[in-house]
Amino acid sequence: MKISVLGTEDCWEVVDRTKFGRIACSVDDQPYVVPFNFNVDGKQHLYAFSTVGQKIEWMRKNPLVCVEVEELTSSNDWTTVIILGRYEELRNTPEFERQRIRAHELLSSRPMWWQPAYAAGTTSDRENEEPVYFRINVEKITGHRAESELVQKFFPEGLPKPLQKNDSHGLW
Ligand SMILES: Cc1cc2nc3c(=O)[nH]c(=O)nc-3n(C[C@H](O)[C@H](O)[C@H](O)COP(=O)(O)OP(=O)(O)OC[C@H]3O[C@@H](n4cnc5c(N)ncnc54)[C@H](O)[C@@H]3O)c2cc1C
Repeated sequence: MKISVLGTEDCWEVVDRTKFGRIACSVDDQPYVVPFNFNVDGKQHLYAFSTVGQKIEWMRKNPLVCVEVEELTSSNDWTTVIILGRYEELRNTPEFERQRIRAHELLSSRPMWWQPAYAAGTTSDRENEEPVYFRINVEKITGHRAESELVQKFFPEGLPKPLQKNDSHGLW
């Protein structure tokens, strides 16, 4: 197995393709990681949506976060991207109106985009809660790709791009 380092463009390609990852935050030296959906705007921000729970409360206290994104084919064929960034809440105030509209535009391109945030909380009254739009301002992005010798032999230019879930060929 060979591990190669991805350039910034390739990292963003993976992040844009997956639009799903794990976000880690921390308070008082205690890390906390949860899966989340997001969308990408340019090569600067990840936009996401939630209701108030532990992760939002923790990111409000400490905005430094880490996001991990992955494409796993097998233990020998995988790509992972790690982002270090800063949480920014897009508050429901005139100051953030433009960014909130942008967040809604980006996130609502996915069907039922709001559901995981409302359904996965543990408090019973989440459905009545004010939605929280936020973005991660990306400060550092790195990526690694592992490929088996067989992949390198038969696909010296790299594996063909994985099929996307919303492609229209009906394979998913
Ligand atoms: C595929 C997928 C996509 C998702 N997309 C989003 C999204 O876009 N936005 C979003 O807000 N949420 C999303 N979720 C749900 C998210 O992972 C959290 O479960 C949810 O946001 C609640 O987090 P919280 O910190 O507010 O938890 P709280 O309701 O405050 O949780 C309290 C406790 O419950 C436990 N807990 C919380 N979540 C999980 C979990 N997933 N698994 C195990 N234990 C848990 C933790 O121990 C935590 O201390 C997604 C989940 C999946 C699987």
